[in-house]
Amino acid sequence: MENLDKQTTELFWYRVMLTITVWAIPLFGFLVKMVDPDCIDYMCHRFILGGMGFMLFFTSFFSRWIRDHIIVLSCWFVLILNLWAVWITYVNNFSIEFTVGLLTTFCVLNATIRRPWLYYIFTSTTILATIIAAWLAPVPVIDPILMTFTFLSLGCAFMLTSSATLNSERKLSELNHTLEEKVRERTAVAEERAKQLSVKNQELEQFAYVASHDLKSPLRNIGSFVQLIQRKLRDVHDEDIHEYLGFVIRSVTKMNAIIDDVLLYSRFGDKALTFRKVNIRSVIREACSLSMGEIRRRNGIICFDDIFIDEMLCDAKQIEQLFRNLVENAIKYNTSERPVVNISVREKWEEYLFMVEDNGIGISKEYHNRIFTMFQRLHTEPEYPGTGVGLAICKRIIENHNGKIWVRSEEGKGSTFYFTISKNLTSSATRPKLEVAYG
Ligand code: ADP
Repeated sequence: MENLDKQTTELFWYRVMLTITVWAIPLFGFLVKMVDPDCIDYMCHRFILGGMGFMLFFTSFFSRWIRDHIIVLSCWFVLILNLWAVWITYVNNFSIEFTVGLLTTFCVLNATIRRPWLYYIFTSTTILATIIAAWLAPVPVIDPILMTFTFLSLGCAFMLTSSATLNSERKLSELNHTLEEKVRERTAVAEERAKQLSVKNQELEQFAYVASHDLKSPLRNIGSFVQLIQRKLRDVHDEDIHEYLGFVIRSVTKMNAIIDDVLLYSRFGDKALTFRKVNIRSVIREACSLSMGEIRRRNGIICFDDIFIDEMLCDAKQIEQLFRNLVENAIKYNTSERPVVNISVREKWEEYLFMVEDNGIGISKEYHNRIFTMFQRLHTEPEYPGTGVGLAICKRIIENHNGKIWVRSEEGKGSTFYFTISKNLTSSATRPKLEVAYG
């Protein structure tokens, strides 16, 4: 893949070089003609050479062989151009404008060769050819000794600077390679750690599930026996004892509720999700039906007329639980005479954005993030009973649906809970199901 990218980039730059060359050769001919109208412009040669470059460029789009050999073919093309430039300068007796032309062609074209060994061969061949031609020229306008000296020193300087560039390019590419290797190694290590962490997480959740489940039975015993004791001591007129027993029973009830919520939380984490197309309005209706007693008692209204989606891909059980938690909270944390909960949805490009708005007591800004953490409560038990797990469960359900959940609220001005559900859900039947052995 990486090699393919490199080849594509190289191909692109060789095509650019060929395009420039194809245009530059005839253009330079016109330029020479403009400077000295009497000189021979060799336009015919120029068009032939330009045509060769164009053919190379053009066929590289159709022929795979040309594409695979574009570097070597372009280099040979450059060598032909260099030698032609030497020849043209020779027949012009090394007149100053042709020498300048030769130097320019020589420098520019050779600079395009990015293969060190080809570069050294072509550059030294061109220098040698120039020197020989300068000595053989019938009536050289420029002194051959001066010519030799100029070309040798220019060639050496050019070779030295270019070899430094090529070397640093090579070093850079080696460094890049090492860096890529390191990134690959680190990514592999990170992936391995993530895998280990996920296994540990599952073990931890399994532990939480088993521990919570096993706690339920002794807790049930404590509750039953305390109630028996309470019944036995019914006739004992000691207020303290009845107060203590009441306190124990309330604590057992509370602990039971916490364990139930923790079990619910861990079940939603590990249970294999089953995404199916469901009617979201009936899911909401079902979620509200369980709290209907409390909603009626509080004279509340739940409105979801704005839900225009008929079918949506989700895990119906989990989404039902999510709506149940949000609606229950909206009614519970509400001191209005008529609690109103408005559920609406907006369809976005890749997700659905749901909103659950209430006219309740609201939440101060500093707690907006904190409330989604397990056991984080903003009120005491006598004020509003609860376990502090409901919104953590909501967050987990939404994460299972590749979404986000957040709240916008001000104290005393109601709250709006927002959450998104991705439209591109794939059933995670491969997710490990929690297996618990009860003792
Ligand atoms: P619980 O309701 O059992 O305490 P939750 O996780 O459902 O636990 O909620 C955490 C806290 O967030 C609550 O204690 C409450 O203070 C606050 N909260 C949740 N929903 C609302 C709401 N609709 N309006 C005001 N406060 C809310």
